[in-house]
Amino acid sequence: MDREKNYGSDYMFIPATSVRSGVGVEIRPDLFCYTVQIVNLCLVGSPATGEFVIVDTGMPKSANDIIAVTEDRFGPKSRPKAILLTHGHFDHVGAVIELVNHWDVPVYAHPLELPFLTGRQSYPEPDPTVEGGMVAKMSPLFPIEPIDLTNHVHMLPSDGTVPHLPDFKWIHTPGHSPGHISLFREKDRVLLAGDAFVTVKQEYLYKVLTQEQEISGPPRYLTTDWQASKESVAILEALKPAVAVTGHGLPMSGELLAASLSKLVREFDQIAVPDYGKYVN
Ligand SMILES: [Zn+2]
Ligand SMILES: [Zn+2]
Repeated sequence: MDREKNYGSDYMFIPATSVRSGVGVEIRPDLFCYTVQIVNLCLVGSPATGEFVIVDTGMPKSANDIIAVTEDRFGPKSRPKAILLTHGHFDHVGAVIELVNHWDVPVYAHPLELPFLTGRQSYPEPDPTVEGGMVAKMSPLFPIEPIDLTNHVHMLPSDGTVPHLPDFKWIHTPGHSPGHISLFREKDRVLLAGDAFVTVKQEYLYKVLTQEQEISGPPRYLTTDWQASKESVAILEALKPAVAVTGHGLPMSGELLAASLSKLVREFDQIAVPDYGKYVN
């Protein structure tokens, strides 16, 4: 008998929010970024054509909200061609099973992320002792057990192309998670960075709540390979993105993005890497 799609047994609603929750912003005519509580997702595609994909799927229990936003932008009963995952952390796959069931569309992720998406492997435990604030302290609440998308999840094509988004390439940006990817569109230098770096100090409840904009490395409590993360940020900086949508925080663009990213690369050990924590060294 076929396996049933399932979240892990630790899957639950996480009561954390921000001033941006429920707010969407159009970054390009074919790029819409929407915030679910404390995490961003993107709808990529033009409402004029009605063809689009969704990148990441919000927090646990947010499927109805995401479907409503999608239908607002693309019309009643609209559905994406596919779901792309930057990685499999709970705040990026929060509604994925309900969305797959509702839309009946394929999910794509990096091969190294598949164990976490097919019920085979839990993520390492978040580190509540890491340098940081209340969000780091509450991180033991965060679901880490693998979800199981069964045969609904597929590997991204190995040549870097992105299904249904011919102008985009995917880039392997590990460190925050083994199979983390970012998406880049050369023609207008749009970067969807996932959690490779973020624009808010995600460890601090107050900064998450207010969404104070500040370049940061990946969220610390879930990042396990800081050397890989540093290399990934350097790869993204070298692309010279014009605008970056990150998994957490406000989109950043122009001079501010260029200066912030170059500073993050130069001072990665000071800005990104925590002074203490169990995944440091
Ligand atoms: Zn993450
Ligand atoms: Zn995240």
